[in-house]
Amino acid sequence: MVGSVGNGSMDLREREKAVPLPKEFEREEMVDALTPLRPDTVEEEEKGRSREIVLGRNVHTMCLEVKEPEDDDEVTGDREAYMASVLARYRRSLIDRTKHHLGYPYNLDFDYGALSHLQHFSINNLGDPFIESNYGVHSRQFEVGVLDWFARLWELEKNEYWGYITNCGTEGNLHGILVGREVFPNGVLYASKESHYSVFKAARMYRMECVKVATLVSGEIDCADFKAKLFQNKEKPAIINVNIGTTVKGAVDDLDLVIQTLEENGFKDRFYIHCDGALFGLMMPFVKRAPKVTFKKPIGSVSVSGHKFVGCPMPCGVQITRLEHINALSSNVEYLASRDATIMGSRNGHAPIFLWYTLNRKGYRGFQKEVQKCLRNAHYLKDRLKEAGISVMLNELSSTVVFERPKDEDFVRQWQLACEGNIAHAVVMPNVTVEKLDHFLGELLEKRSHWYQEGKLSPPCIAAEVGKINCLCSLHKK
Ligand SMILES: *Cc1c(COP(=O)(O)O)cnc(C)c1O
Repeated sequence: MVGSVGNGSMDLREREKAVPLPKEFEREEMVDALTPLRPDTVEEEEKGRSREIVLGRNVHTMCLEVKEPEDDDEVTGDREAYMASVLARYRRSLIDRTKHHLGYPYNLDFDYGALSHLQHFSINNLGDPFIESNYGVHSRQFEVGVLDWFARLWELEKNEYWGYITNCGTEGNLHGILVGREVFPNGVLYASKESHYSVFKAARMYRMECVKVATLVSGEIDCADFKAKLFQNKEKPAIINVNIGTTVKGAVDDLDLVIQTLEENGFKDRFYIHCDGALFGLMMPFVKRAPKVTFKKPIGSVSVSGHKFVGCPMPCGVQITRLEHINALSSNVEYLASRDATIMGSRNGHAPIFLWYTLNRKGYRGFQKEVQKCLRNAHYLKDRLKEAGISVMLNELSSTVVFERPKDEDFVRQWQLACEGNIAHAVVMPNVTVEKLDHFLGELLEKRSHWYQEGKLSPPCIAAEVGKINCLCSLHKK
């Protein structure tokens, strides 16, 4: 969180200098304060490096041990100085990690200095945003203001919507799918196989029948397969997760075609659509030519992540649904003097204020400009990669650039690229400038010429993932 050091910070800094650093911190070259504890054995270190996931066993290579205070700590101030030094190191590593960040769709470009004085309050929006609870230290007035803005964006009247600020995009999906399930208790959940894992988690949690639908090369849902799958469950209503930007390829499912497929195949008035807009839900409204996500179409809910494109410094999200659906789901809780329609109980009351602040600062026009910049820079990255002979794909409505997975895992980690099989992606957010992309490209091209020995070895074929026309392997390049 943003903040200032409290009283006596000068003292602390002075003392920090005087106290020797704990052993873990002696190696100057070690930038990453997240890995200060030296692994016990070389073997453990190797494990940490390869990030092997060992199920059923946690690997404790990343750990800042909690040390019990000594009796005289309060007198000597050693404890505080120790903690200050740990935090100072950590802050430096955050600066470095922020600079080298390309793979996750988080907008790291913000300045919330004006809100730093609020961290002294335990703000909690327990319960329903539209019903006062007895707990007074809340930020509902900001929350409802933000929700109104989103409802207007997605074209649902004030008296017809319900929503809340969630803890993340996942919670929005859990909520949207739960609403769908409450509206159609025996409904079958359909989601393309490239949907976010939280959708399949929801199916498991709610024990819903779930059908995975095939995708096109772009990553969009394949409506021919959707139709075939609907035929297999004709007697049961359909609950559909529609992706407004998939996680890996940034693909946007064709909402209109999904609706048409449902209506033409006997599902009229027997379907519920949840739109997962975690990534692109707030970008697409600003892309010219993009199809519209709107409650004027027969959709039930939309969710978006607040810490992705919007750039909120803590995880959060926005969930909007139709008020009529909420009655199917909620019950009254006397303890809160409120209605219980949210997934979580306590909710972060700071997040709505950050969102409110950003919306006021940037507004519709500000987002529009940022989206255009992201798309322009994404095209820049795609063109440079292609020129260099690297297989690459960029969906029309997206700023997610998919390309051949770099051969070296250290490089992947350095730039925090998200990878899946043979592909990696970079998500161009407002904080990703042309300079940063040039820096990345420079390093990638230099390393790559080593990996493939100046062209003597050939890079992998990724035609299966990005299509033949985007693949520049030795077989597919023209
Ligand atoms: C990131 C993402 C989510 C989950 O959002 P969190 O805020 O990380 O929980 C869901 N769906 C898609 C498509 C995403 O990209």
